[in-house]
Amino acid sequence: MKLKLLFLPLFLMILSSPTFAKDCKQDIDGNDKMQFNLKEIKVPKGCTTMKLNLEHSGKMAKKTMGHNWILAKTKDIAAIVKSGLSAGLAGGYIKKGDSRILAHTILLGGGEKTSISIDLTKIKKGGDYSFFCAFPGHYILMRGKFKY
Ligand code: ZN
Repeated sequence: MKLKLLFLPLFLMILSSPTFAKDCKQDIDGNDKMQFNLKEIKVPKGCTTMKLNLEHSGKMAKKTMGHNWILAKTKDIAAIVKSGLSAGLAGGYIKKGDSRILAHTILLGGGEKTSISIDLTKIKKGGDYSFFCAFPGHYILMRGKFKY
């Protein structure tokens, strides 16, 4: 009995230690004003994957105010957007097989949401990464730094 009581605090300590209490997820919201609610995403220490939940909290249709979330090196953004144009609305403005894209969601219209799991082993610690929306013209406003 005494032994059990000794182990309980130890067990609780392990559960609450940083290794076990990782909150490797991030919510982000896009709206009808062509904006994300975040200018920066910082990955919590110790995460090797991160769940990203994207919500379009607006009301406008996908074809006029579509939003997706793309992760790439900051220097690649303009080129990714340019090559994504040919994919069009149906392709979510993402060129199939674009290796510069490190993670991406589908394109959403108002009231929709989606989730992805990001493999952080592809991301260099301290590198210059950004997230953005690939809908034509949106990346100018809809972007932010992704820090790992
Ligand atoms: Zn957008």
